[in-house]
Amino acid sequence: MNDLQSILLPGIESKRPIVIAGPCSAETEEQVMDTAKQLAKNGIKIYRAGIWKPRTKPGGFEGIGEIGLPWLQKVKEETGMYVSTEVATAKHVEAALKAGIDILWVGARTSANPFAVQEIADSLKGVDIPVLIKNPVNPDLDLWIGAIERIYNAGIRKLGAIHRGFSSYDKKIYRNLPQWHIPIELHRRLPNMPIICDPSHVGGRRELIASISQQAMDLSFDGLIIESHICPDKAWSDASQQITPDILQFIINKLVIREGVQTTESLADLRLQIDNIDNDLLEMLSKRMRISREIGTFKKEHNMPVLQANRYDEIMQKRVILGESMGMSPEFVTKILEAIHEESVRQQIDVINSK
Ligand code: PEP
Ligand code: MN
Repeated sequence: MNDLQSILLPGIESKRPIVIAGPCSAETEEQVMDTAKQLAKNGIKIYRAGIWKPRTKPGGFEGIGEIGLPWLQKVKEETGMYVSTEVATAKHVEAALKAGIDILWVGARTSANPFAVQEIADSLKGVDIPVLIKNPVNPDLDLWIGAIERIYNAGIRKLGAIHRGFSSYDKKIYRNLPQWHIPIELHRRLPNMPIICDPSHVGGRRELIASISQQAMDLSFDGLIIESHICPDKAWSDASQQITPDILQFIINKLVIREGVQTTESLADLRLQIDNIDNDLLEMLSKRMRISREIGTFKKEHNMPVLQANRYDEIMQKRVILGESMGMSPEFVTKILEAIHEESVRQQIDVINSK
């Protein structure tokens, strides 16, 4: 992928990963300064802090607002770091530019709204500032590219994308599903666009930051944006995913950066193919289940039992032989078929018992 620094920030040493770090939100001058000083001491060059916070639910902390902007100016003056913040309206852009913010980013909830992105784009006409565009909350690559295009059409040329994962109902492992094939496809379509991963918002838990960051490096991402707070447990927003500047340093030092572009690119490509095949497999299975339910309806109408042993034995034998001829072990094929059959039976019983 691209060398982000040369595009975004001439003058910074150009080594992967470029790291942007700082708290989810600016809370107090003291918290902003203490976090910044520790990060700068550890070698971080770009600071992040949310001034305006789009929270999912009302009543949460919605950002300190404009009074926090002078704190970021002070970070610049006292540490020499570049400073960045999220903008969601033309008013935010105007205030951020007036305060000398170096880099702006568009948040995930904003990227999902073309009207809001256009308003930001219009307010940036004639301005030369780096803008990072987070993926929209929903897994819609065209919407993400559309947001990037709107900012590009306003004349902004220092552009980058931030992958922060995609919202889902199921939050068992990740706060936002990574769906890595989407940023990989973005890179294929816009090969000159630097891409940064936001493992804090993908994972939603501090224990996941190291592994997600490593995965982003293995997939040739250019950089990382990581939430770091001087006292994470006391954070006013996203406390569970923030880490201290020292833990951040530890994680960055442990990253393995493999620069064999050829192999990582082709690995990413192969992984993308696997993702697509898994999607196809699941779709085929759900189609199979729909047919099973139809059979269930037939059996119900004709008063037939769900399990018909002859049919089951026949299916098993034929498929195991077929699977073996395709290079898969009989044990593996048997296990898969048993699992599929069990789910089919469950679905049929469900149909038969329904009123
Ligand atoms: C953030 O960066 O703190 C933030 C609000 O992120 P996102 O837009 O990805 O939810
Ligand atoms: Mn956050």
